[in-house]
Amino acid sequence: MAAIVFDNFSYSYDGAAKALDGVDLTVARGSFTVVAGPSGAGKTTLCFAACGVVPHYFGGSMAGRVSVAGVATAGSSMRELAVNVGTVLEDFESQLVTMTVAEEVAFALENRGVGHDRIARRIGEVLAQVGLAGLEDREVGSLSGGQKQRLAIASVLATRPEILVLDEPASALDPEGAEELYALLASLNREYGMTLLVVEHDLARVLAYADNLLVLADGRIACQGRPEEVLPVLARSEELAAMVPPLWQLKFGLEERFETRFAPWRHEGEAIEELGGFIGAGRREDTKSA
Ligand code: ADP
Repeated sequence: MAAIVFDNFSYSYDGAAKALDGVDLTVARGSFTVVAGPSGAGKTTLCFAACGVVPHYFGGSMAGRVSVAGVATAGSSMRELAVNVGTVLEDFESQLVTMTVAEEVAFALENRGVGHDRIARRIGEVLAQVGLAGLEDREVGSLSGGQKQRLAIASVLATRPEILVLDEPASALDPEGAEELYALLASLNREYGMTLLVVEHDLARVLAYADNLLVLADGRIACQGRPEEVLPVLARSEELAAMVPPLWQLKFGLEERFETRFAPWRHEGEAIEELGGFIGAGRREDTKSA
C-alpha cells in the first residue's frame, strides 16, 4: 500500500482559483519525497491536503480524493488521520500549545495514551535528536524562532509517525541547523522506513537524501521523478531553472562544455572525486599528445 495517494485531486479555497488542479501523486512507503516549486504553486496546500487541514479546516471546494495510509482524508477527522501522519506546518508556532519545552513534547504523547516512564524517555530522546537537550524546563515563549521550529519537529517525532509531512521545516534554522535536520530526517527514513513528504525550496539541502522530487507549478505537477531525472528538466525550463542547485548548474555547464556525462552528484564530495579523475585523465591525454 502506498503511503499517500492523490487521485485527480483539485482544491480551491473559498471563492479563489484552484490551488491544486488535477494532482495525481503516489508517495511510496519509505520514500523521501521533496516538493518544490515557485511561490503560490500549491506546496502548502498539498501538505494541508495530506494531513486533512484541507478540507476539514478550510472550507472551499474539492474534487478527486486523497488517502493517507489507505484512509481517505475526506472521510476521517484530522485526529484520526494524525495517528498515521505527523505534520509540521509552515506556521509551526501555532502548533505549540504549552508552557515548557518538556510539556510540549509530553502533550503530544499524553494525547496518545503513552505511559509516563516512556514519555520521560521519549522527551530526552527527541530533544537530543533536534539539538534541544538540556532545555526541558525552558518556557516555550522564551525560545528563538529556530528553537521553536526544532521543538515543533520534536513533538511530532516523539509520536513516531509512519508518515511525516513537513512544510519548509528548516525555514527558521541557520545553514548548519538545516544540515543537521536533514541528516536526522534521512536517518529516520533509512533506519525506520519513515515516509517523508517535505517542502523545501533549497534543493541543495536535500539532494543527498531525496529519492523523489516533485515540482509543482500553478497547482499542477510540472515534473516528478528521481532528482537526476528532474533536475535536467528544470534546467531546460525558463521558469524553473533557478531552482537547480549551484552544484548541478556547474555539472550541466561542464557536461555541455566537455560533451561528457558525470554521475548524479549528491554532494560536493562526489563532484570533487569525479572531477579529480576527469582532470587527471585530461592531463594524461595532454602528456601523451605532447
Ligand atoms: P505555495 O505553498 O506553493 O506557496 P500555496 O499552497 O500556499 O502555495 O498557495 C496556492 C494557491 O492558493 C495560491 O494562489 C494562494 O494564493 C492560494 N491560497 C493559499 N491559501 C489560501 C487561503 N487561505 N485562501 C485563499 N487562497 C489561498
